[in-house]
Amino acid sequence: MSGVEKFYGTFKALAGIDLTVHRGEKIVVCGPSGSGKSTLIRCINSLEPHDAGSIVVNGINVDGSASATRDVRLECGMVFQHFNLFPHLTVLENCMLAPRLNRALSKKVNETLARRFLAHVQVEEHAHKYPSQLSGGQQQRVAIARALCMEPPIMLFDEPTSALDPEVINEVLGVMEMLAAEGMTMVCVTHEMGFARRVANRCVFMDKGEIVEVNTADAFFDTPSSPRLQSFLSRIL
Ligand code: ATP
Ligand code: MG
Repeated sequence: MSGVEKFYGTFKALAGIDLTVHRGEKIVVCGPSGSGKSTLIRCINSLEPHDAGSIVVNGINVDGSASATRDVRLECGMVFQHFNLFPHLTVLENCMLAPRLNRALSKKVNETLARRFLAHVQVEEHAHKYPSQLSGGQQQRVAIARALCMEPPIMLFDEPTSALDPEVINEVLGVMEMLAAEGMTMVCVTHEMGFARRVANRCVFMDKGEIVEVNTADAFFDTPSSPRLQSFLSRIL
């Protein structure tokens, strides 16, 4: 993406974002509340329209057109802070819905695929349950499986562990690390710095709608150059 700007009314939430994510790369985005992290990630898959600059995802020019919006969402699986599972559908139905609407699969193949991804994130035994019957960590793993059922080449995560109890955060981070090890291209908004150090190829620090610093994980944490990142890290570490 280059020169990306985003306004909410007159408020500039993204002020000229330049970032290129390579295939297979894992990017961690962090920064203070309100710095534009969610906005950035939501612009990538066209959940929010951007107002200037360009976003190109695997050759798709994300321009707000219906076809680009549909295409980019097939490229990018998304996982949110609050899971956003459909409460009236079972775990299995949650996973089968998007493929049913978007992929020409038989019901049997769709179910096999869904069960395979549920097993991959270790929640297959809950396939028949409703989201409200699961713990937060289990719900978030279902949300990851649901995204994977579309077999996207890119996964976007927006603070996937922020709403979780401390003891289940690691089970979700573990699943994310597994995906990373499998070669998934990932953009993760998270303040889980251990995860960032272990997994991120590059870390991005945002403040006030700008990318202030981008660096390898070690340099990012050990030798931050901008005073704003230094003070941010001193507050969260
Ligand atoms: P947090 O860490 O709290 O999730 P963030 O970095 O994800 O913050 P964003 O949600 O991207 O921040 O918001 C960036 C700025 O844009 C904030 O000042 C926010 O109040 C504003 N904003 C976000 N969404 C909207 C909206 N739909 N309408 C108006 N303003 C918005
Ligand atoms: Mg956010």
